[in-house]
Amino acid sequence: MAKPTVAVYKFSSCDGCQLSLLNLEDELLDLVGVVELAYFLEARRQTLPGPYDIALVEGSVSTPHEAERIQEIRKQCKTLVAIGACATSGGIQALRNTASLDDLALKVYEHPEYLHSLPTSTPIAEHVKVDYELWGCPVNKYQLVEVIQAFLQKRRPNLPSHSICLDCKRKGVVCVMVAYGMPCLGPGTRTGCGVLCPSNGRGCYGCFGPAPHTDLKTVLASMNYVERHPGEVKGLLLNISNNAPAFRQAVDLLPAVPSETTGGKK
Ligand code: SF4
Ligand code: SF4
Ligand code: SF4
Repeated sequence: MAKPTVAVYKFSSCDGCQLSLLNLEDELLDLVGVVELAYFLEARRQTLPGPYDIALVEGSVSTPHEAERIQEIRKQCKTLVAIGACATSGGIQALRNTASLDDLALKVYEHPEYLHSLPTSTPIAEHVKVDYELWGCPVNKYQLVEVIQAFLQKRRPNLPSHSICLDCKRKGVVCVMVAYGMPCLGPGTRTGCGVLCPSNGRGCYGCFGPAPHTDLKTVLASMNYVERHPGEVKGLLLNISNNAPAFRQAVDLLPAVPSETTGGKK
C-alpha cells in the first residue's frame, strides 16, 4: 500500500520551523518509513506530484504571490497544518501591520519600488481553512510528530493548550516574576516550549502565542506591577506573536507608555 504523502511549504519565514522537522534525529528515520516526504525542498531535491495527504505550511502570507499560492496548496492537500508563529499569527513581520508599508519601505530600502509586499503579514488561517495550528518559534518538533501520527492513526492530535505557568510548577522552575521581579508573559502563553525562558532566568515573551481562555487582563495587572521600565510589558506582547488577536487586544489594555518628553516617568 502506498505511504501517505507529506508536503512541506515555506512562505514568509526564516526556515526554522522546517528545520525542527529535520532536527527530529531519532524519530526522522521512523517517520520516513511510514510517510513519503513528497515535497520538502529543504530535505530532498526530488519532488512527487500532488495531491498530498498532509501539508505542513511554514510562514506568513506577506506577498500577492503567496496569497495566490496558498489557495493552490489548499486545493492540493487533505489536511493542512500551519506550523510556527509566522504561520499561526503572522510572525515578527506582522509588526508592520499597524504602520504604513510605504513609509517603512522608504526608511529601509534605497529602491523600495522593487518590493512586492502586501501591506500586512497575516496567518495562513486568514486565507484558507486550516485543520491544525502548531504554535511556537520554532514549532515544537514533538507536536509535529503527534500531528502526523494522529493522521496515520485516524484520530485527533493531542495538542495541550494550558499556560506555561503550569509547566513551571511541574518542573519546579523558580518563577522569575515572583523571585526576581521580571515581567513574564507565561501565565497567558500556550504550553509547548518546555519553559525555555524561565528555566534560563528570564521572562516569557509569548512565542507560543496566547493560551486559549486566559484572562490576559488579570495577567497584565501582575506584569505591570513588576515592569522595570516603561514599555517593557508592551515589548513582550509585541514580539513574535504580536499579531495574535488576544495579544493585540491586551496591548490596548496597557497604560499609555510615557513619551520621551515626560522623562520616562509614568
Ligand atoms: S515561527 Fe520562528 S522559527 Fe518558525 S519560521 Fe517563523 S521566525 Fe522562523
Ligand atoms: S510567571 Fe513565568 S516564570 Fe512564573 S510560573 Fe508563570 S511562566 Fe513560570
Ligand atoms: S518561555 Fe515563552 S518566549 Fe520563551 S520559548 Fe517558551 S513560549 Fe517562547
